[in-house]
Amino acid sequence: MATYVIGFPRIGEQRELKKALEAYWAGKITQDELKKTASDLRKRHWIYQKNAGIDMISVNDFSLYDNMLDTTVMLNATPERYKNIKDCTDRYFAMARGDNNHKAMEMTKWFNTNYHYIVPELNENMNFEPHISKIKEEISEAKELGINPKINLIGPITFVRLSKVEGNGDKIIEKLLPVYKEIISEFKDYTIQMDEPYFVTNPNDKDLELLEKVYNELASNANIFVATYFEHSNEANEVLAKTPIKGMFLDFVAGSENSIKTLVEGGKEVGIGIVNGRNVWVNDIEKSTTFVKGLTETINSNKLHIGSSCSLLHVPYTLKYETKMDEDIKSWISYALEKLDEIRVINKLVKNEELSETDKEVLQANKEAISTRKTSSKIHDTIVQDRVSNLTDKDKHRDMPFEERIKLQRENLKYPVLPTTTIGSFPQTPELRKLRRDYKNGVISEEEYKNQIKEMIKDLVKFQEEIDIDVLVHGEFERNDMVEYFGEQLKGVAFSKNGWVQSYGSRCVKPPLIFGDVSRPKDMTVEWITYAQSLTSRPMKGMLTGPVTMLNWSFVRDDQSKRTTSYQMALAIRDEVEALEAAGIKVIQVDEAALREGYPLRNNKRAEYEDWAITSFRITTSSVKPETQIHTHMCYSEFSDIMDAIEDMDADVISIENARSDNSLLKIFKERGYKGEIGPGVYDIHSPRIPTTQEMVEQIKAILDVLPTEKVWINPDCGLKTRKWNEVKPSLKNMVEATKEVRKSL
Ligand code: GLN
Ligand code: ZN
Repeated sequence: MATYVIGFPRIGEQRELKKALEAYWAGKITQDELKKTASDLRKRHWIYQKNAGIDMISVNDFSLYDNMLDTTVMLNATPERYKNIKDCTDRYFAMARGDNNHKAMEMTKWFNTNYHYIVPELNENMNFEPHISKIKEEISEAKELGINPKINLIGPITFVRLSKVEGNGDKIIEKLLPVYKEIISEFKDYTIQMDEPYFVTNPNDKDLELLEKVYNELASNANIFVATYFEHSNEANEVLAKTPIKGMFLDFVAGSENSIKTLVEGGKEVGIGIVNGRNVWVNDIEKSTTFVKGLTETINSNKLHIGSSCSLLHVPYTLKYETKMDEDIKSWISYALEKLDEIRVINKLVKNEELSETDKEVLQANKEAISTRKTSSKIHDTIVQDRVSNLTDKDKHRDMPFEERIKLQRENLKYPVLPTTTIGSFPQTPELRKLRRDYKNGVISEEEYKNQIKEMIKDLVKFQEEIDIDVLVHGEFERNDMVEYFGEQLKGVAFSKNGWVQSYGSRCVKPPLIFGDVSRPKDMTVEWITYAQSLTSRPMKGMLTGPVTMLNWSFVRDDQSKRTTSYQMALAIRDEVEALEAAGIKVIQVDEAALREGYPLRNNKRAEYEDWAITSFRITTSSVKPETQIHTHMCYSEFSDIMDAIEDMDADVISIENARSDNSLLKIFKERGYKGEIGPGVYDIHSPRIPTTQEMVEQIKAILDVLPTEKVWINPDCGLKTRKWNEVKPSLKNMVEATKEVRKSL
């Protein structure tokens, strides 16, 4: 029985890699210096793992940008358009992030995590061949430290299925097989981990046939462990049991229904990934030990290994720098380094090995954490719990059906046909960020801070009136981030100082920790919104982040169901909705930017998610008067498979991204219809380009071809915070002008 991790964070415990990358891109350090930093980081990460007692330590989990991109390079699948770049590192970065002469390759989310990979572009005519110098170099570095590494590779099926493929994907896999074979035979003396997480989605029979064929070929002369994660992969397990692989690494956190019987009967080894690579709460070491010991009653323990559920890339690095965190909260969490200790101790306990002093300390602290979490008053708040258990059906439905209440709203708000609005945020300038920083650091007083923010709100209201927008916003100048802003004001939510997780390339995010029962001690936005409303007779939109987005962008507690946590969050935000309404705000937008990405990977789990997610939104938004208008906003255009759920949210108005997606979204509306009012973004805010009046006239007309005029709102496709004022002002002016032109033609 050995210990392993699927992969280790590479950004560095103090984001050293981020800093080196950005310095290199800015021309401040040389390529050699960048490579030296990368090599030092790898060594440090390996030593940490070695010292923590991890037996199977990975090479090739490190990347200067992304492992999928590394695989593209490894297989010589670089798209033609980058081949004129001589230097291979610069070529690599041009693919990742573009350069003056090259557009970057596309980037997308890695399954349902917040990590983004560079999407390979493959076609049947590519001349695939093995390029393995990166791996060889890392192996020799590891060996210098006395480490006999396991080699991480992304498996051919996952690689191709996650690519943009021109032609036949199966043919490409076939063409890749000899290349993979050659690579594997180079490393036949090592354990090889082949990541095939594609098989936790919903593999069909053909995928499974292919899986068998591929691993029959690849594994015949090698030590291959196939790794799946983020869910169970039972269909794949059954198939792989028949191939000559050595074993599998499975996720026992996400996939409690993982079946290993056939694998074991097929003589395979099984990695029990029981330490959570995607969340930060301490593992219940005793419980895990009992679970694995249970398995060893029927399975020879030589066949089992203990590890992380997925790569530790998805959690922060080390608690070492969390010097300001509440001591209790800190005792309840572990980051990557602390998770290594958990893996080691579980392994020793299962094997009945003697514990060292350090192990004993780890175990003792773990027991205490588990027990204090059960009772701590920082976590448990009976008032919140009672509110959730007393929720009734009435809390989840508005009093009046949409068709009736929308009439009252139109009367109440008096907006014209094709009403114009924006999604909420306006440019976040460096001066604004400095202002918020100065306030936070006590450099300026609260009064001064508020006055300055209010000045900005005043200017924005004036601007919106001048260009004649119908439903105004206050601009969100007081917010750093749509989740953090609310998280900081909610009870039960904490923030770390160094809890950075790589999102893509050098970009990291620091998700909030929802650690306890959630409530809203006091108003969060009312002062800003009512101030903005006081400056205008036009409707001012209240602007809130929805419960599901709050959850999906946080580390969520694991000691109660997500549904319960989400309902608590929903009630806390409902309190703010009610406070805004009571203060005279007539339009309230509740953003659910991340609703889509929270969908589970397995189809059979979708209904459950939709049920609690949609219900949460309804809890937040259903207690208002019929004439109060609820808006929501979503940042994507892939709606075809979730239309029923979206409609079920029962928002009065929904604004969505559309501008980038060649109106494919509109086709769905045409085919299916939609109950509420809709603002399909008329221009793309992700680009600095200023759209002309004429092109937006065309865009609006295209929308009116498929949607009834009385349902359509006109707005950009997302918030404007990443844009500059000199882009935003003319764009919005043109947008309103285009609207007026179309109105005239009606
Ligand atoms: N109201 C938010 C904004 O305008 C919405 C952001 C988002 O959709 N991601 O910034
Ligand atoms: Zn958006």
